[in-house]
Amino acid sequence: MKNVLNQFRDYLLEMKQYQHVSALLQWDLQTQTPENGQERLMELSDRTAARLFQYATAEEYGRMLEELSEPQQFERLDPAMQLTVRRLLREHRRLLRVPADFYNEYASARTRSGRAWEKAKRSDDFSLFAPHLDKVITLTKQYVNYMEPDADPYEVLLGLYEEGIDSETINCLFDEIKDGLRPLLAGIAAAPAPDLSALEGHYDIDAQKKVQRLLLDYIGFDFASGAVGESEHPFTTRIRFGDVRLTNHYLEDNPISAMFSAIHEGGHAIFEQGIPAELENTAAEQVDLMGLHESQSRFYENILGRKKQFWIPIYDKLGELLPQLKQVPLDTFYRAVNLVRPSMIRTEADEVTYCLHIILRYEIEQAIFRGNVSAKDLPGLWNDKMEELLGIRPQTNAEGILQDMHWSDGSFGYFPSYLLGSVYDGMFLEQLTQELGDPDQILAEGRIQEITGWLNRKIHRYGSLYNSAQVIERVCGREISAKPLLDYFRKKYSEIYQL
Ligand code: ZN
Repeated sequence: MKNVLNQFRDYLLEMKQYQHVSALLQWDLQTQTPENGQERLMELSDRTAARLFQYATAEEYGRMLEELSEPQQFERLDPAMQLTVRRLLREHRRLLRVPADFYNEYASARTRSGRAWEKAKRSDDFSLFAPHLDKVITLTKQYVNYMEPDADPYEVLLGLYEEGIDSETINCLFDEIKDGLRPLLAGIAAAPAPDLSALEGHYDIDAQKKVQRLLLDYIGFDFASGAVGESEHPFTTRIRFGDVRLTNHYLEDNPISAMFSAIHEGGHAIFEQGIPAELENTAAEQVDLMGLHESQSRFYENILGRKKQFWIPIYDKLGELLPQLKQVPLDTFYRAVNLVRPSMIRTEADEVTYCLHIILRYEIEQAIFRGNVSAKDLPGLWNDKMEELLGIRPQTNAEGILQDMHWSDGSFGYFPSYLLGSVYDGMFLEQLTQELGDPDQILAEGRIQEITGWLNRKIHRYGSLYNSAQVIERVCGREISAKPLLDYFRKKYSEIYQL
């Protein structure tokens, strides 16, 4: 007779294998399933989701979790297994409150809404998406209400993506950023814009894919444990231990977009690849702390990738792959990747105005969940807020509310993670500089792997064993603050724009 811990491990493995299937189906659906095959694949995906729901709500599973959480059993578990029992028991109790039929309806509505969003975005027709969005909003409210009937729904959603950071903390950080950026952005707007015409031209997509390979190798992505695909919206997904995949999209007139998406997604992937085998099949293997996750992708993309020194060791190779760049001095390239100006698309925005794109989405999410705004009013609200925060107004919904996929699949509460990630990055940069020395010099000398090593030792190897607030405390020894990020912006852009 197996003891309860071994039974539980077997059960977890089975669940993990279903999740593995589900992740592969989602990957296929988002990267290559032909249009006429999508409906049947979505049915299969719904069925897998339903099976996983059964696993997570089964009586025997609940019994094992309850038994393992009793003090005499619990104390004997290692930290990763303690976390697993605690987290999965909470999830189990939450899901037990959700009717299975409702859960399946919700999963199915999200998958379909995702496909409708793609079509709506492509044809710039919000009306194709609006009924799906309304349905997803209604069902998301219901879902959260089932899980935590006594809590504020938006607070619960925030907690799904960044455990331990509430809206009060986010409000303080975001207000400080909004106020802090105003004078900096006014100064930049008044400064002369750099001449970037040398970068204009047509850039071969195959060559851009080779650049992507170069960049991913350079920052430390392990191709033996990862793969790359193509999708409408770049993303990274952990299929299973040893298989972390990312996607990208390419623009013929703008090679910089795909470069920085590759570095961003590569940062997510390096985090996932840095989670050690000891944590496999425990809850610590799964990092749902999206602020922490974004802090890693954005550390590579912005803090490192937008430094001139990042490019010094590879700029010649870049010129070999994209011959147009041979005519572009590194200084001009550096100015181009740090061009600060208000723009419509979040994923293409510079690192400074990017903050305002997130604050806009955060404010709209609160209007949806606390102010009951419905889908039909969202395009107008979006455009008004763009004007208020960035001083520009979208002319189409494709460059407005349709640009991001997150709301189509019910991921409300996710957006703040991006900016939280940058806030953490300001702190990590200060700490890394204290411990390793000047990152400019480390990068210029081609020692980027020392930085990856530091991030791995301090953050990646623990998976989600600690939540973000705990990671900050362990790594930096102090509480979360937006000040280091604002200091970093002020110092860097005062130099670039000679303010
Ligand atoms: Zn990301």
